[in-house]
Amino acid sequence: MADNFNKTDVNELGEFGLIDRLTQEFVTENPSTHKGIGDDAAVLKMGEKALLVSTDMLIEGIHFDLMYTPLKHLGYKSVVVNLSDIYAMNGQPKQITLSIAISSKYTVEALEEFYEGVFLACKNYKVDLIGGDTTSSPKGMSISVTAIGEADLEKVVYRSGAKPGDILCATGNFGAAYLGLQILEREKQIYLSNPGIQPDLENQDYIVGRQLRPEAGRQTIGYFEKHGFRPTAMIDVSDGLTSDLFHICRQSGVGAYIEEGKVPIHPDTEKMALQFNMDPITAALNGGEDYELLFSIDPSDLEHVRYMPGVFIIGEITKADDGIKLHTTGGNIHDMQAQGWNHFKNNNPSKDN
Ligand code: ADP
Ligand code: MG
Repeated sequence: MADNFNKTDVNELGEFGLIDRLTQEFVTENPSTHKGIGDDAAVLKMGEKALLVSTDMLIEGIHFDLMYTPLKHLGYKSVVVNLSDIYAMNGQPKQITLSIAISSKYTVEALEEFYEGVFLACKNYKVDLIGGDTTSSPKGMSISVTAIGEADLEKVVYRSGAKPGDILCATGNFGAAYLGLQILEREKQIYLSNPGIQPDLENQDYIVGRQLRPEAGRQTIGYFEKHGFRPTAMIDVSDGLTSDLFHICRQSGVGAYIEEGKVPIHPDTEKMALQFNMDPITAALNGGEDYELLFSIDPSDLEHVRYMPGVFIIGEITKADDGIKLHTTGGNIHDMQAQGWNHFKNNNPSKDN
């Protein structure tokens, strides 16, 4: 690393450019590698079955701040964000491995608290903790979770299956986790400049909860199974609704539009966005860490989705030439801009899961 002359700064490529650059030479050798890099989870072919594998890392100071993150919630979230990627493939998570690197500031009791959250998530989602690794770190804590799931191979849903005319749907609501983080950050700054002041989190339970203790889309997958249909494409929304829609569009070779008025936003999110002088739709489209599912369905499955609890029809898949657009409530049509999450530049602990 002595001479960085003529070397490329990682910021230049962005996260996805960097992954592409580092992995472009790799070709898969094993027929069991059905889908390698590029989706929410890898798909391994085991006869008629698929084994789904996904890994995420959480780093102290980048993805979480222990000043306002209870360790139990952190344990819970570390598991759930990984299960979310398995659901995004229309699979059922079954096992996790969990590795931690910790500095000496962590006590046994603190780690037990973290594991209480891990335990609770495993119990709630019926997954087994089957291994991991424990090591020391010069500073702070790093967490890496690998989730393993199962599906019938033919039922796996990829980011790449959307086609023009498909209906674009989303579960839950958007922007809450982002605004929850803004509140936590605001209260942290107030506390740091005046430790005598108690944090004002009153009535913010919902959005703060969405940041600290997210849930993943188990019911959605159960509904698809029960009603005998599946999306044409699906992704979990970790980077932001717009950014993750771009992944579907790029990998499916399609365009899309979202109707601004149809994007579900919780009333608490709306209120808090306005307090932060932000348009609620901006938070909803670009916030990230929602861990909702964004999916497209064939129009012939519309009846199934109409009655699906907590699911909203937010737009449509179009031809690639039509671009990726926002139809505003005022009747205008804008190009959507993926904010392109870049965690090398921005130390905002949200996103990038
Ligand atoms: P998600 O947001 O759903 O967790 P990512 O955006 O993190 O997905 O990753 C996109 C794809 O790139 C995934 O298939 C992931 O496994 C792969 N990937 C990410 N980082 C690396 C890496 N360092 N080496 C190889 N593959 C990677
Ligand atoms: Mg994902």
